Amino acid sequence: MEKPYVTIVIPAYNEEGNLPPLMERLLPVMRGLGKPFEIIFTDDGSRDRTLSILKSMTRSVPELRVIEFNGNFGQHMAILAAFERSLGEIVITLDADLQNPPEEIPRLVAEIEKGHDVVGTIRLKRQDSIFRKAASKVVNITTNKMTGMRMSDYGCMLRAYNREVIDNINHCQETTTFIPALAQTFSSNPTEIEVSHSERSEGESKYSLYRLIRLNFDLMTGFSVVPLQLFALMGIFTSLSSIGFALFLLIRRSMIGAEVEGVFTLFAITFFFIGIIIFGIGLVGEYVGRIYQEVRRRPRYVVRKVYGFTTEPEVTR
Ligand code: UDP
Ligand code: MG
Repeated sequence: MEKPYVTIVIPAYNEEGNLPPLMERLLPVMRGLGKPFEIIFTDDGSRDRTLSILKSMTRSVPELRVIEFNGNFGQHMAILAAFERSLGEIVITLDADLQNPPEEIPRLVAEIEKGHDVVGTIRLKRQDSIFRKAASKVVNITTNKMTGMRMSDYGCMLRAYNREVIDNINHCQETTTFIPALAQTFSSNPTEIEVSHSERSEGESKYSLYRLIRLNFDLMTGFSVVPLQLFALMGIFTSLSSIGFALFLLIRRSMIGAEVEGVFTLFAITFFFIGIIIFGIGLVGEYVGRIYQEVRRRPRYVVRKVYGFTTEPEVTR
């Protein structure tokens, strides 16, 4: 078989209802490109029929490859496992739930062919809840500020990378990561295009509020130590203001006399600072926990079996 020019990478976790319509739309687009391609699905420990549907599809679609995970390791690990086995000059990630229209793929390919190494996307008229959209806005702005990167939409997974960026990502061994941000650090000539966005076609979002918060911690602390530095600055600021406050009390005492009232005001102020201190310990804990995960050097994910591959991955963990 010819070496694929484009690799499509799709993580799937309990997506049985979306797979047939996805393939129905994806295959004509890929065949229309007129270049050899491969489609790699990672089954991220699904508990529904996702895996059996994918396996049966490999029989009729020779370009289809499936990686079966031995549990749920998360969307980003699912994508990384597929990256390690990808052969294409251009690698494109896509969600399985048809929120990213496969019809946009040729535009992404065209951008890479123009010489860009990473093509990001901005979701036009994003079809998610107001809460998700507002949260993303905050995350996008703060992440750009903290990491010094420029990206308008970190959340959109319809993205294209050239081989060089993928090879660099494959050499990273971090246990928690956020792929669009990781790719950005290896990119010298990125671009962004606007793509349309639809509602999830079947099933529910796989991200609970808790998982979303975890993911965004990965993004914030995984790529910068600015949160720690801000914390140190806040400590300095608090100490300086408390010196000012002590001086004020001293002068007040010499002019009006000692103060006794306002004990509960003091409580309020104290609780505020205790809150900040606990947050600070938690923040330091995030980094320490991350270091702990890295030094244990456990495998980031476990592949039970693969289907449809003809070659072994070049990079092994
Ligand atoms: N996904 C995954 N493992 C997970 C969670 C999600 O492989 O633990 C996949 C999921 O099947 C989908 C993609 O990641 O293809 C995006 O997930 P989802 O649509 O639930 O996220 P949202 O669009 O709500 O951000
Ligand atoms: Mg989705």
